[in-house]
Amino acid sequence: MKVILKKGREKSLIGRHPWVFSGGVYRTDGSPKTGDIVSLVDAEGTFLGKGFYNSETSIAIRVLTWADEAIDLAFWNKRLQQALALRTMLFGGTKTNAYRIIHGEADLIPGLTLDYYNGYCVIQISSAGLEKCKADIVTAIQTTLNPKGILERGDLVSRKVEGLPQESSVLAGTIPDTVTITENNMQLVVDLKKGQKTGFFLDQRDNRARVGELSKNKKVLNCFSYSGGFTVAAALHGATTTSIDISAEAIELCKQNFKLNNLNVAGHQFIAADVFGDLRRLRAEKQTFDLIILDPPAFAKSKDHVGQAAKGYKDINYVALQIIKENGILVTCSCSQHIERMLFQKIVHDAARDAGRTVQLLEFRGQACDHPINLAHPEGDYLKVMICRVI
Ligand code: SAH
Repeated sequence: MKVILKKGREKSLIGRHPWVFSGGVYRTDGSPKTGDIVSLVDAEGTFLGKGFYNSETSIAIRVLTWADEAIDLAFWNKRLQQALALRTMLFGGTKTNAYRIIHGEADLIPGLTLDYYNGYCVIQISSAGLEKCKADIVTAIQTTLNPKGILERGDLVSRKVEGLPQESSVLAGTIPDTVTITENNMQLVVDLKKGQKTGFFLDQRDNRARVGELSKNKKVLNCFSYSGGFTVAAALHGATTTSIDISAEAIELCKQNFKLNNLNVAGHQFIAADVFGDLRRLRAEKQTFDLIILDPPAFAKSKDHVGQAAKGYKDINYVALQIIKENGILVTCSCSQHIERMLFQKIVHDAARDAGRTVQLLEFRGQACDHPINLAHPEGDYLKVMICRVI
């Protein structure tokens, strides 16, 4: 089955961008259906690549390969081995035993996430084509990684768009209720089945380590703490901490993580509350902090939400900047793919102007390198982390 592109629409593909939008399709040959593997050719009939077809979504083709090769078990094994080689290079010989092995387009498998947690694998499939290849992918994971269990988390909004069910299930082996992972010098408990995303936010690993170093003996406020990765990193450096998250389960995990790292919960604050309101309470109580972390969920889920999201980011940064001490540190993050780096920097500046503070950008950081960015697919550069000093 073939998809023939309109004249001129092959350009981004030659640059190896892995998506073809429906507007770029001239016609199909052989009546492909959603989820089928198709060959892509330009208007002259020259082969460009192979990928998954979807007749119902704006992304009509997700390219899997630029070679004319079979998409079979050998193909999935090859993709997994190549991805694993990077992680072995990054983490071999370290204590860290939880990392992302497949980061979708960046690891040449559009729509697949594979996270590894100390012997257990969690996958997320967000395209109809991949769903059809699931059995082969599971076999390839078993061959390459030999995990104790493979869990699929099906609770992704993008699955609905692709017409896929929202079910989670154990695909192989067994999955315990919690898994304890090691990240640098920290032990962390992860709830693979019920935790957020695949259980933990592995993309912030390096930033947690950096924030730990910057937190020595400081008074630290961690907003949107989830299970307290940043808080534990800070507390292990002698910080006095406050963690806020709207989820009571997350705050409970946060306390468990303190105990797991032999940290005494007494003297630290764990608050299940909405950050938007609680930052205002702290301001009203005239509480101030040496270091504040803001790591909210993605406020902009699509391009249409950028304006609304910008207001949300500005609001939390504005109040945080009002309660940060002179020469304090602000670590402010956005994981919205649709908020570009310069826009995020501008939002934080707007907040600083309204709060009457001078902000020095020390480091503009991003996602850890087990979440690589494919230069052909800049959409994969989603995490922005600004470490700033506030005067
Ligand atoms: N920094 C964390 C990850 C944060 S993910 C880490 O290193 O692991 C975002 C978190 O924000 C989630 O735990 C979610 O429960 C929480 N959250 C979402 N909306 C919130 C709100 N309005 N107030 C407080 N927490 C919120």
